[in-house]
Amino acid sequence: MSDNICYRDAYARSVEAVVVALEPGAGEAGEPGAARISGAPGEPRALGAPGVPGAPGQGGQPGPLGPAVVLDRTVFYPGGGGQPADRGVLRASDGRTWTVVGVRKSGDDIVHLLEPPTTGTALPVVGERVTVEIDWERRHALMRTHTALHALCGVVWRDYRAQVTGGNMEPGAGRMDFEFERMSGELVGEIEAKVNAELAAGRDVRVAILPRAKAFAIPDLIRTKINLLPEGIETIRTIEIVGLDLQADGGTHVANTREVGSIRVTGYESKGRLNKRIRIELVDPA
Ligand SMILES: [Zn+2]
Repeated sequence: MSDNICYRDAYARSVEAVVVALEPGAGEAGEPGAARISGAPGEPRALGAPGVPGAPGQGGQPGPLGPAVVLDRTVFYPGGGGQPADRGVLRASDGRTWTVVGVRKSGDDIVHLLEPPTTGTALPVVGERVTVEIDWERRHALMRTHTALHALCGVVWRDYRAQVTGGNMEPGAGRMDFEFERMSGELVGEIEAKVNAELAAGRDVRVAILPRAKAFAIPDLIRTKINLLPEGIETIRTIEIVGLDLQADGGTHVANTREVGSIRVTGYESKGRLNKRIRIELVDPA
């Protein structure tokens, strides 16, 4: 079980942690595609468990070829909901540093996939203390992008009652798909202006963890067409842009819409009679 601070505090850039399990990597010993992790109490655990379902293109998953590390706590977002996994580094007290090239969930653990270290740099060992540090510039761009996409969803739902069917992002740019029959190129300009007005309004963005029953009682909360929340989940994490948007969500966001800056719509595509896609990019705050 890895305690993941990013769900409570998206601004946590680093944390001190202890290595609880390590797999040296298929590049050295094991067989490709069958990497297993050991060192923690109990049976070795497979690393191949899928991440969050329904999150195509979440990135950061180069496969079980390099070393993989499970820590008792982390600040790395493992990917999901259209937001790619973080990148960053692990540092030992003696100066050894490992680049984290991918992160994924495996049951309750967060598995950090390391770039194979250069010759002479020993891998971390179970029980060793490390400093866990994300690539903050990249993550913050993702937090701004993710929040901008919520503002877009919020405006499109509030003013046009169109539901989201999918979305994806990279640092600084993203896209959302809507079931939105009457969307047009002209309407897209109107939507851009409305989203920018909402961002400029300085709305707070709040995270809450609600019991499942309470969350499902909120009208419009589960508004994405594809509801992938598994039956067994007891609590629902919600992200609210106060006065604009409320969604069940696992990602990381900024604390106020002003921090996003503004957006520019860079593309609009019809994906069929009903389904329309809007592409946006961030414009940095002045
Ligand atoms: Zn989100």
